[in-house]
Amino acid sequence: MIIIRHPTEMTAWAKEQAGRGIALVPTMGFFHEGHLSLMRRAGQLADQVAVSLFVNPTQFGPQEDLAAYPRNFESDQAMAEAAGVAVLFAPDAADMYPAVFSTTVTVGKELTGKLCGASRPGHFAGVATVVCKLFSIVRPDLAVFGEKDWQQLAVIRRMTVDLNLGVEIVSHPIVREADGLAMSSRNTYLAPQQREAALSLSRALALARTLAAKGERSAERLTAALRDFIHSFQETAVDYISFVHQDSLQHVTEIDETTILALAVKIGGKVRLIDNGRVM
Ligand code: AMP
Repeated sequence: MIIIRHPTEMTAWAKEQAGRGIALVPTMGFFHEGHLSLMRRAGQLADQVAVSLFVNPTQFGPQEDLAAYPRNFESDQAMAEAAGVAVLFAPDAADMYPAVFSTTVTVGKELTGKLCGASRPGHFAGVATVVCKLFSIVRPDLAVFGEKDWQQLAVIRRMTVDLNLGVEIVSHPIVREADGLAMSSRNTYLAPQQREAALSLSRALALARTLAAKGERSAERLTAALRDFIHSFQETAVDYISFVHQDSLQHVTEIDETTILALAVKIGGKVRLIDNGRVM
């Protein structure tokens, strides 16, 4: 596996691969099994796997955890290599965003103004801009994203089509711990006594499925039941509980097979976790 730091060198490598398929897995590092499963999937779909490791400052709000975001380059490097990655692209922020940088890609409010976009203003402009840049730099045939970030996936799909970027977007299911907690680099922020509260998200998804299986279809009644359930765990504060259409992310009043339940919960006032899934 080679490590490339500079965008120009990354593009030079991509051009040398002419004719060999490149799959890109964009990440912010601190790898766990979720990231690795995306890398392995990428390896099944293309000859060469490129992984970007970049804690993108523009997708963090001023009060968010940019400085504290967990990092471990040596361990990430070893894990990516073991997963069969050909190139680890780990640029410096100064090379991605030179002083004169002045372009932003914004996807419409109907996809970015709700869910995580409502509590994280500017987040999806940061995500869309960096992913657009990564596509231009790495020139992949396809890119693999996790369903853990369902809204991100919808935003990237829209951008890729709207801007004719010509990259196939592949989604990969959520990888979970044995007890159901969706894997996340941010789980490392959880104090031991908060681990149980973190399960409120995956358990709420399970509860929604149980209620749906018994015939409940009302998003309003389900939301009320899930809110009470999540708040029965210590130190939890619901950011949102939303039933949305899987592609348009439009809120639904009645759930069906095309509905995604999206959840964001703050644990202990600090650690914000998300999860999502179908309920029927
Ligand atoms: P991150 O490093 O958190 O920005 O994530 C990089 C990619 O890994 C994104 O496409 C995420 O959706 C995906 N990802 C993160 N956690 C998981 C997980 N538990 N299961 C599947 N994909 C994940």
